[in-house]
Amino acid sequence: MDKCKQQGFTTKVIAQKYQRKDAHGAITMPIYRNAAFEFASAESIANAFQYREEQASHTYTRISNPTVENLENKIKTASGAKQVQILSSGMAAISNVFMNIAYAGANIVTSPHLFGNTFSFLKFTLGNYGVEVRFVDTDNLQAIEQAIDQNTVAFFCELITNPHMEVADLERISPILKAKNVPMIVDSTIVPWCGFQAVRFGVDIEVVSTTKYISGGATSVGGAILDYGTFDWVNNKVLAAFPESDEMSRFSFRLKREIARNLGACIDADAAYMQALGMETLELRFNKMADAACELAHFLSEQPQVQHVGYTALATSPYKTVSDKMFTSNPGAMLTFQLASQEQCFALMNNLSIIRRATNLFDSKTLIIHPYSTIYGTFSNVLKDEMGIKPNELRLSVGLENVSDLKNDLRAALEAL
Ligand SMILES: *Cc1c(COP(=O)(O)O)cnc(C)c1O
Repeated sequence: MDKCKQQGFTTKVIAQKYQRKDAHGAITMPIYRNAAFEFASAESIANAFQYREEQASHTYTRISNPTVENLENKIKTASGAKQVQILSSGMAAISNVFMNIAYAGANIVTSPHLFGNTFSFLKFTLGNYGVEVRFVDTDNLQAIEQAIDQNTVAFFCELITNPHMEVADLERISPILKAKNVPMIVDSTIVPWCGFQAVRFGVDIEVVSTTKYISGGATSVGGAILDYGTFDWVNNKVLAAFPESDEMSRFSFRLKREIARNLGACIDADAAYMQALGMETLELRFNKMADAACELAHFLSEQPQVQHVGYTALATSPYKTVSDKMFTSNPGAMLTFQLASQEQCFALMNNLSIIRRATNLFDSKTLIIHPYSTIYGTFSNVLKDEMGIKPNELRLSVGLENVSDLKNDLRAALEAL
């Protein structure tokens, strides 16, 4: 295709208008901060509840809301997904996905290197309902293949594991899953759609914590489920009973009509409004942060106090080739680095003045955290060992400050050790 005629990512997101008319012609989708919607007649409300309308009306905000729908449409435009469901958090998105496809006796094949709550949800929460999690090394294609059986409802992984900084080679995993008729579900929170096009690598369902890059500077919590419509769910024991059409897979049909409504983790309109604004500056912010992260990764690698830097664009990363292949930008704004000990990590954190001590990722502010004592602080040392969480490792989420100031802050804190 002629590149000049192809609209860029940000143009498409900003040009995306909301679909229904606002009475005043507001240029930005207003915040619909109401619970219910009124109908002109008994017949029209009956039609809405019985799905007999050409374009579905909003009836109740737990089910759908115009401001939330506007965010879903922007994400559809940005990603190319067929269906998008926005929920109240990244964890709501993840739990809704698995509640939608799993059943007692089902199993999920995944890496043990997962976001802490995702690990806990799969292993402990779903575990109590008779769902088995099979942990594999995602670099080992044979192990993935061997872990799959008739009751495997998904292969799941995170795009870049955190804090391990591994990248599963989705292009090589995809044919194994296709041959076994298993969907690929990926948490792509770490690199948004302007840097990673999921569908090119065989991803069927994408989950994203919109709290991170999308929210526009850590304004609000939210999550998204994206369905590319690429998987035929007819062999899934529960989804087989649901209908499918060109617009809507069995997965999205059940998710929207049953699971999301029953679990009720709807986002509120204020958060959806801020996140739709965040979408307009997503590419700008992401590119600036990812370029700064790459520069800081090189900078930290050169410091004598630093033992190891985890960033997949570095020549020292075993995942550099896969990372270069999968991402069209620098690979995100998160990096890890190791010092001599936990004490040195704490001392460095306490020496910083611009960089903030906080959890979260991809705020406009640069954030630092010691995962071992915080995110994984309540896990046993044995479990942390198993999960590869190291006591001498820090995680940095690079924000929008001028990179020279971030370098100076880190340099001064390292020199004071
Ligand atoms: C933050 C995060 C989540 C959870 O998202 P919340 O919005 O905090 O619920 C899930 N996966 C990854 C990779 C994350 O970084």
